[in-house]
Amino acid sequence: MSVITSLTDKDRIFTNLYGYQPWTLQAARQRGDWDNTKALLELGQDKIIDVIKASGLRGRGGAGFPTGTKWSFMPKTPSPERPSFLVINADESEPGSCKDREIIRHDPHKLIEGALVAGFAMRARAAYIYIRGEYIREAETLFAAVQEAYDAGLVGKNACGSGYDFDVFVHRGAGAYICGEETAMIESLEGKKGQPRLKPPFPAGAGLYGCPTTVNNVESIAVAPTILRRGAEWFASFGAENNRGTKLFQISGHVEKPCVVEESMSIPFRELIEKHCGGIRGGWDNLLAVIPGGSSVPLVPAKDIMDAPMDFDGLKAVGSGLGTAAIIVMDKSTDIVSAISRISYFYKHESCGQCTPCREGTGWMWRVMERLRTGDAEIGEIDMLQQVTKQVEGHTICALGDAAAWPIQGLIRHFRPELERRITERQGGGLAPMQEAAE
Ligand code: NAD
Ligand code: SF4
Repeated sequence: MSVITSLTDKDRIFTNLYGYQPWTLQAARQRGDWDNTKALLELGQDKIIDVIKASGLRGRGGAGFPTGTKWSFMPKTPSPERPSFLVINADESEPGSCKDREIIRHDPHKLIEGALVAGFAMRARAAYIYIRGEYIREAETLFAAVQEAYDAGLVGKNACGSGYDFDVFVHRGAGAYICGEETAMIESLEGKKGQPRLKPPFPAGAGLYGCPTTVNNVESIAVAPTILRRGAEWFASFGAENNRGTKLFQISGHVEKPCVVEESMSIPFRELIEKHCGGIRGGWDNLLAVIPGGSSVPLVPAKDIMDAPMDFDGLKAVGSGLGTAAIIVMDKSTDIVSAISRISYFYKHESCGQCTPCREGTGWMWRVMERLRTGDAEIGEIDMLQQVTKQVEGHTICALGDAAAWPIQGLIRHFRPELERRITERQGGGLAPMQEAAE
């Protein structure tokens, strides 16, 4: 199968990503949303799941778990005492990520129709959309769009005339990053303090109110109706093996034109930036490093990222990850140690504190990062910091511990000479200009 890694307009799912048209039901219908949704439901639960599996769609919230497979974990005959639920993760808080915000702002009906189709496929009684507390205007849009869908009989009792009852609830978060972790989100929905649960059991076994639950990202759900309409083969024609489909990339930092754009998975980094962002500020020689998947993944130095395919495997091969595809571009004016230290502070601040390696480790790592930033650390602390990141990584209840460790590991791996230079020059008095990544 040939690999397509560049999209044209006719291939885009999110045709109103920039809000040139209204988000309303009437306009959404003109764009093809809610077009005979009943016929999609008539495909039947198993067929819908088969199509999503065949499309190769992998979770768009960061972890990349195969979406159809996740849906298939849900019980085929839920009991009335233990109904199934769909929870949609709109608590987009990963630094650099802002794609779900654009979907909700300009294409909320894609999400609501996707919720119905996905909820039906997994035999769920209702969907809860958990939206980030800071997304105030977006929440207003979402509440209004859900009301439109109810008023038009698209959701609620006998949704789309299908005989299937399906409710959609919108729940606003209160500003905690950790509530984006799926089990913390479930706790928060239940009215408790948002702290992650130990997994297993996974939510499919025991989720919201102890019932079978699937938690999916906004983008994963919003693309489902289009995949069903255009076919699994169409979606799978984009991107490399194991990395299929179209994807929203969010490009921020030192490019000429930062943007959110839908592109093919596996598009090479340089092509993505040239095609949509007008290149790197000051030219390609001015590129220092890139964080390609939101703040939780390690940075990649300029020389390694240029030709990397922007997908799960391509970025893993250069020691990082696709994550949420939030691409933070840093040119040579960036104080890279300061940038990573700021990320460390973020994780220290957002740690929920229930497990020791994360609660203590994030604060410890940030304090050492600050000493490295100012050059006040000892040389031996670089290795000690590396060891501490290894003690935190993989030893915590949720992925926040890993997310705090990985950016520091990436910094030490690629910019150790810069860390050493700061310490040496501080001891000799005064700091010299930044250096590039070690070869
Ligand atoms: P994970 O790999 O633990 O799980 C991914 C999904 O697959 C979960 O829904 C989980 O329930 C399911 N799953 C995994 N194994 C399973 C099994 N054996 N049986 C049933 N279900 C199974 O990852 P995670 O902790 O959910 O997510 C971490 C990712 O979140 C990071 O990669 C990061 O990029 C991303 N993230 C995103 C944001 C954001 O704002 N979108 C914020 C923080 C982190
Ligand atoms: Fe809380 Fe951190 Fe433990 Fe996650 S890793 S449960 S955020 S203390």
